[in-house]
Amino acid sequence: MKSGPGIVIFLGPPGAGKGTQASRVATRLRVPHVSTGDLFRHHLKQGTPIGQLAKGFMDRGALVPDEVVCSMVEDRLGQPDAKGGCILDGFPRTIPQAEALEVLLTRLGRGTTTVVSFDLASSVLEERIGGRLTCKSCGASFHATLNPPKVAGLCDACGKAELHVRADDRPEAVRARMTEYAQKTAPLLDFYASRGALYRVDAGRRIGEIEKDLEVLLDRP
Ligand code: AMP
Repeated sequence: MKSGPGIVIFLGPPGAGKGTQASRVATRLRVPHVSTGDLFRHHLKQGTPIGQLAKGFMDRGALVPDEVVCSMVEDRLGQPDAKGGCILDGFPRTIPQAEALEVLLTRLGRGTTTVVSFDLASSVLEERIGGRLTCKSCGASFHATLNPPKVAGLCDACGKAELHVRADDRPEAVRARMTEYAQKTAPLLDFYASRGALYRVDAGRRIGEIEKDLEVLLDRP
């Protein structure tokens, strides 16, 4: 067994299931699940300046400026629990972010980077986001039909809070997020393929099947 998975980047359009898999893989490999969307939502809840700045971008489905995201990620990756690696979910999302990450990882002396692309047709993405339900308290995500909670409307993960439709899962915001993805994030596929670090998974299958693929990929010695 190798000592840790290194930095694992989950790339893919909104609704491809990155967050669900990232949380499962991180628990299994005992590394942090670093979701920039969750970090922003946490800032928002706490009313920090980063949260206030990010809110307008997030609500309309636009990307938060690179400098803000990069400095937040730099802080997070510098924390001791991320030393053995982490699952990066939702970062990088632009070429400048990917370049900044390379510089940061070199500076921190972190080893390998594995990038997993979650591939899914856009018609399926719309259906998935359409039914997405998120926990108001812990942020766990479910789907009305594809991954329903055990008790309707209540979070399985923390058992405490109600599930709701996130502001950025509303149709106008979803359209904007898809456009941002196509214009700014999709070019990262070539960026990482040219570095020999890109693996692709068919994200149109059942959660358990995708999870098995990731297990084989990320647990390999
Ligand atoms: P997510 O939960 O990953 O879909 O992220 C929710 C929102 O947070 C996005 O629509 C963006 O507004 C913002 N966000 C998250 N990650 C990034 C990033 N790497 N770059 C810019 N904005 C981001």
